[in-house]
Amino acid sequence: MNFDHSPKVQELCRRLTCFMDDHIIPRIRQHHDDIAAGIFPVSFVDDLKQLAKSEGLWNLFLPDLKADEGGAGLTNLDYAPLAEIMGRVSWAAEIFNCSAPDTGNMEILHMFGTGAQKKHWLAPLLAGKIRSAFAMTEPDVSSSDATNIQTIIRRDNANYIINGRKWFISNAAHPNCKVMIVMGKTDPDNADRHRQQSMILVPMDSAGVTVERNIPIMHHHSPEGHCEITFRDVCVPTGNILGGEGDGFMMAQARLGPGRIHHCMRSIGQSELALDLMVERALERKAFGKYLHQHGAVSEWIARSRMEIDQARLLVLKTADMIDKVGAKSAAKEISMIKAVVPKMQTVIADRAMQVFGAMGISPDTPLADIWTWGRALRYADGPDEVHLRTIARLEIGESRNSPGATLPYLTPPLRT
Ligand SMILES: Cc1cc2nc3c(=O)[nH]c(=O)nc-3n(C[C@H](O)[C@H](O)[C@H](O)COP(=O)(O)OP(=O)(O)OC[C@H]3O[C@@H](n4cnc5c(N)ncnc54)[C@H](O)[C@@H]3O)c2cc1C
Repeated sequence: MNFDHSPKVQELCRRLTCFMDDHIIPRIRQHHDDIAAGIFPVSFVDDLKQLAKSEGLWNLFLPDLKADEGGAGLTNLDYAPLAEIMGRVSWAAEIFNCSAPDTGNMEILHMFGTGAQKKHWLAPLLAGKIRSAFAMTEPDVSSSDATNIQTIIRRDNANYIINGRKWFISNAAHPNCKVMIVMGKTDPDNADRHRQQSMILVPMDSAGVTVERNIPIMHHHSPEGHCEITFRDVCVPTGNILGGEGDGFMMAQARLGPGRIHHCMRSIGQSELALDLMVERALERKAFGKYLHQHGAVSEWIARSRMEIDQARLLVLKTADMIDKVGAKSAAKEISMIKAVVPKMQTVIADRAMQVFGAMGISPDTPLADIWTWGRALRYADGPDEVHLRTIARLEIGESRNSPGATLPYLTPPLRT
């Protein structure tokens, strides 16, 4: 494993950092104030997107996308430090057309879309003209297990008719969100539980689609939304099916591999920011005659945070490298490992930083409460921790089963006479 970034990636990191310093970080306050005043989409976002595009800082996430298709030709390993830089500001990834859930949806369309689907939906997504949502989770069933979902996609001659209820659908309240990839069942009685599901493209303005509410996350209200949506006899042409009938489960797996790693890369950036804030505060504030960093508890939090971030980053880089070299399927254990490690680490480090800030730490005057909340949310989004731990244990145990008795020479039981 060689984690040195190539000269091309180092140069992109430099340019991205300059863009963040010049155009994004100075606008954090205005973004915050616009959202608080109910101005959404924020006025300058489209201008910044155009600027980022003109500077070639655009669609950096998609490894298979060639330059003439609008991609940057970067591997997952190349993309990791760039996502980390973007991660420091919660809304920055969108400026570079690298934000979820659009990135995962673009990957699905890129991998499985027909020519017509690519022209209609992928091209405007890659150009940043529209946004999208991904609708899998349902209120009535445990959606960690995608075989449980109940939304029905029924064939009716040249159309499909969709009925169901979804919730926590990110981005669905964004005024530019024009399309959803909806997961439902086309063949609920198939004996193979992993062939019952399909994915279908549903325009947001289809008759029968109703955004019932935007659900706040803790007390945080995202204007782009995590929405509850009902589908009542929604009718779309058969040409909207992605892949084929029964391919939904397989495509969900394909979508989540890279998506999970992108979240984790950005989380490393957010954790670094939390640590930076913690250290600066500890250097400037005094209690009981000493600077905060001179108190043992605080210096231990700083040290532990540094160690945890560096460990997590190495695991993320290793995972990115594996996805590039052997594919997401063979990197399943590593993908689950980073997904179980990184969001939790983000909440732990944000929690320490909030403590160092005193009461201010849980106010909106620092980004720490948002960093904590997003880390907490990521412990569910793209699969809860426990499901990932189960995957890791299953794969680890499977490997051990392949070499029974390998540890026997290490055992030294007393000889029986
Ligand atoms: C901020 C946010 C954004 C989201 N965005 C989207 C989106 O855009 N689209 C979308 O479709 N969904 C989205 N989700 C939903 C998310 O993917 C689901 O919440 C997640 O998959 C878990 O499903 P569930 O909520 O039904 O929990 P359940 O499946 O009911 O699980 C509940 C709990 O059971 C436990 N559990 C489950 N399985 C196991 C197991 N095998 N072993 C041990 N314990 C287990 C876990 O502790 C788990 O948290 C989002 C969620 C959040 C918080």
